[in-house]
Amino acid sequence: MPMSMTQPFIDNSGEKDYQTKIQQIATTLSNWQGPIVLISHVDPDGDAVGSSLALKRALAALGKETKLPLVPPRFLEFLVQENELSPELKVLPDNCLLVVLDAADEARAVGAPLSSAAFTINVDHHGTNTRFGDIACVQPSRAATAQMVKDIIDASRTTWTAEIATPCLTGIITDTGNFRFGNTSPDVLADASELIAKGVAYAELVDQLQIRHPDYFRMLGKVMSTIEFPLNGLVAMARITGEMRDEIGPSDDDSDDYVGLIRYAEGTQLAIFLKDRGDHTKVSVRSRGKVSAQAICLELGGGGHVAAAGATVQADLGETRRRALAAAKKELLRQGFKLD
Ligand code: 5GP
Ligand code: MN
Repeated sequence: MPMSMTQPFIDNSGEKDYQTKIQQIATTLSNWQGPIVLISHVDPDGDAVGSSLALKRALAALGKETKLPLVPPRFLEFLVQENELSPELKVLPDNCLLVVLDAADEARAVGAPLSSAAFTINVDHHGTNTRFGDIACVQPSRAATAQMVKDIIDASRTTWTAEIATPCLTGIITDTGNFRFGNTSPDVLADASELIAKGVAYAELVDQLQIRHPDYFRMLGKVMSTIEFPLNGLVAMARITGEMRDEIGPSDDDSDDYVGLIRYAEGTQLAIFLKDRGDHTKVSVRSRGKVSAQAICLELGGGGHVAAAGATVQADLGETRRRALAAAKKELLRQGFKLD
């Protein structure tokens, strides 16, 4: 669709199908007589935690029996109320409706086995989503899965409260980098505005979302001492090694922030962050302009969005660095950048 004044950011093709699916999901959830289990992706971020808490609270308000097996990162624990989360489920209860949020494929979905669900609903905004489930509602034009959850709640009989709106808004805030990333469309700001109007303590929420354990800042110092600018300075790259973690402790639960910081190094098109996890290495990639973090991560066996993607590589840090740089070089050449 060509850009116009009324549609400056979003490709709205498929919007009608999307609205039909949202209504279908809201109806299925409202009519479901058995338990409803909500799960999301491994290493849950603000969108995974926010989307699932918001939907769980909305369903609980409708009198549904819900379970949310989830371990949030430390900086998001403040969102959770007492007894709201369950441990991982080894088996699903009988006649269970499973809702999978913000997870691009079945392998990334954690918290419960997917195979024995009576019915599975997949709600996600990753273009690389495999469209698994009995209803797969995938809308890459949405900045956050939390926006899609907002649409589901709007389409249901639930009355919005600040307790439901706060985690929902959190998903939007975190997946847009506090409304700074290119996915911050007029619709995103309108949704955020509507959610704030439900009674969210906005200033307190954004303040709380930035608060990190002191070890996070100690780790940040070490991370920044690893920074390098390979491929003619077009890439900013940093790492967390096993040694650094031994020294500081397991406080690196928000590498999203570290990669988010180095992506602003002048002259760079790409930020690559490597995290040594013993038997494998986690890669986070952020890009600007036409350069695709997604293309690089697909090459490494992962996925994600065009501007923000990740991969889990079964190799040590050195080998992963080599592969990530090879994939970055390929993508930069594809986009017409000159490299030595
Ligand atoms: P992050 O770098 O913050 O972990 O992830 C950025 C984006 O890439 C997120 O949308 C996330 O879902 C996706 N992503 C991260 N790691 C992986 C991975 O190992 N496989 C796939 N398919 N996607 C990933
Ligand atoms: Mn998301």
